[in-house]
Amino acid sequence: MPREVMEYDVVIVGGGPAGLSAAIRLKQLAAENQREVSVCVLEKGSEIGAHILSGAVIDPKAINELIPDWRALGAPLKTPVTEDRFMILTADKAYSIPNWLLPPLMSNHGNYIISLGNLCRWLAQQAESVGVEVYAGFAAAEILYDARENGGAVLGVATGDVGIAKDGSRKPEYQPGMELRAKYTLFAEGCRGSLSQELMSRFNLRDGIDPQKYGIGLKELWQIAPEKHRPGLVLHSQGWPLDTATGGGSFLYHFEEQLVAVGFVVHLNYENPYLSPYDEFQRFKTHAAIRGTFEGAKRLSYGARAINEGGLQSVPRLVFPGGALIGCAAGFVNLPRIKGTHNAMKTGMLAAEAAFAALREDRQHDALSAYSAMFRQSWVYDDLYKVRNVKPGLKWGLWGGTAHGGVHMWLSDLGLGALVPWTLRHDKPDHESLKPATEMPKIEYPKYDGVLTFDKLSSVFVSNTNHEENQPSHLQLRDPTIPVDVNLALYDGPEQRYCPAGVYEFVAAGASAGAGKRLQINAPNCVHCKTCDIKDPRQNIHWVPPEGGGGPNYPNM
Ligand SMILES: Cc1cc2nc3c(=O)[nH]c(=O)nc-3n(C[C@H](O)[C@H](O)[C@H](O)COP(=O)(O)OP(=O)(O)OC[C@H]3O[C@@H](n4cnc5c(N)ncnc54)[C@H](O)[C@@H]3O)c2cc1C
Ligand code: SF4
Repeated sequence: MPREVMEYDVVIVGGGPAGLSAAIRLKQLAAENQREVSVCVLEKGSEIGAHILSGAVIDPKAINELIPDWRALGAPLKTPVTEDRFMILTADKAYSIPNWLLPPLMSNHGNYIISLGNLCRWLAQQAESVGVEVYAGFAAAEILYDARENGGAVLGVATGDVGIAKDGSRKPEYQPGMELRAKYTLFAEGCRGSLSQELMSRFNLRDGIDPQKYGIGLKELWQIAPEKHRPGLVLHSQGWPLDTATGGGSFLYHFEEQLVAVGFVVHLNYENPYLSPYDEFQRFKTHAAIRGTFEGAKRLSYGARAINEGGLQSVPRLVFPGGALIGCAAGFVNLPRIKGTHNAMKTGMLAAEAAFAALREDRQHDALSAYSAMFRQSWVYDDLYKVRNVKPGLKWGLWGGTAHGGVHMWLSDLGLGALVPWTLRHDKPDHESLKPATEMPKIEYPKYDGVLTFDKLSSVFVSNTNHEENQPSHLQLRDPTIPVDVNLALYDGPEQRYCPAGVYEFVAAGASAGAGKRLQINAPNCVHCKTCDIKDPRQNIHWVPPEGGGGPNYPNM
């Protein structure tokens, strides 16, 4: 069956803050210059926002530039930050760090506590109102390339076929994917985008660049008792329940309608295969300084998503013939600020400006080198440059790393950044950091109480995750023997613990006593966090987009 073909000037893969900002900026430039530019955004979630999970405290710098009258247009930025607290936790104590000790760039004054999913829903309305075609429920599954002898440029993407059964046969409702061809294709898939990974490898975009570093962020949304609600309060912590060698920390934000967003990030360079980021998060909520917030409260939602942590030295080359990487598909998160949205939006806008200039010159399918140059001169670059040594310095542990990062950021804030001209490097990718189980202590996690702490399956339930069951697994094993022969044998099956949705289980391989184990993959539970694609020690798990519309349905994460 031939595929339907649609032609655009620009196709954007991913309807998050980066993709939507790029789309809006293109249409703004087209209107200012009285030119027609056709723009389409593809989003794999069932609707815009369905797969978006963030903290989120956002720096309004980018939205101020993109849509200066966002207040009048009803943007969902309703809760300005009124109070910033930072704590170091031990098992039974909480030490508050006074605000005057924290580098000013960590201050959240002027920022807003929001649901990023809801901001994306609003951005999509703005995009549609200026003529962007937004298609949710369609995953870009394949990149279309020109023949290598013609330069091999990216010509667009194709959406996945719909209606393929688990065994590969076509179901009655089979529909072939659609080809969306474009003069330029912008990839805005967010952290560890599957097509973006392919592009980095095909065009050698990471050659000579430090490996990308990641964290897994787990989050719950709660509605709390009115007397405990402090709208505008932003609370961060480091320390317990993690040990001092494992990086990570918590966030807890009070915002509109008695809502509290609470979450925990664990850096994925952790070494102990017995560590379970999910259980660290559940345990965090039980700390004496935290649990009171949730008395009489109700959990509304749960989800998880990987976050880029590598910073400036891990940003790949951004352009290739026919397109560019924008937002977290490239990785512009400022880790100590735990903020990436403003940079995702701004890089989307910069790529849009470069693409528009190229279209005006009747160019197509070449590299948008102007975007790379604009990035280097932008405030995104400055934002990341100031904190570039914070993450690599965490190799000195909680205390050494925090002190080093603090001094580094203070010097930048005081205009003395030139005193630290060097850039520390990231030595290895996160999948190489696990140590054999026999060398590491087992971790016993407390039982869930069903009130403040919950098991994985009831958490997945409140993420509203849904996939068509009869489809090929979107979690592909490059070598089916590795899970048992390597992961289970050497690391006691770490995928059982790092997956925040209970997708991976080692079960008896047969009825007989000596049958051994096999890996069972419960793909329909996947919340699309991408952690398995990152952390599997042999890079044996390949995450590909399932049928469009599948995955979590986050209401307002
Ligand atoms: C736990 C956590 C807390 C955070 N807290 C904050 C915070 O407080 N403040 C802040 O500024 N930033 C925060 N961040 C970072 C911020 O969320 C990201 O920087 C930002 O979301 C990046 O935007 P993006 O558009 O690049 O990617 P995303 O927001 O990830 O959006 C990508 C979109 O593309 C879609 N997509 C992916 N692949 C495909 C495909 N093949 N086909 C179609 N669609 C596809 C996805 O479904 C998604 O909707 C946090 C991140 C996490 C994980
Ligand atoms: S299967 Fe992978 S991507 Fe899906 S929830 Fe588990 S770790 Fe995340």
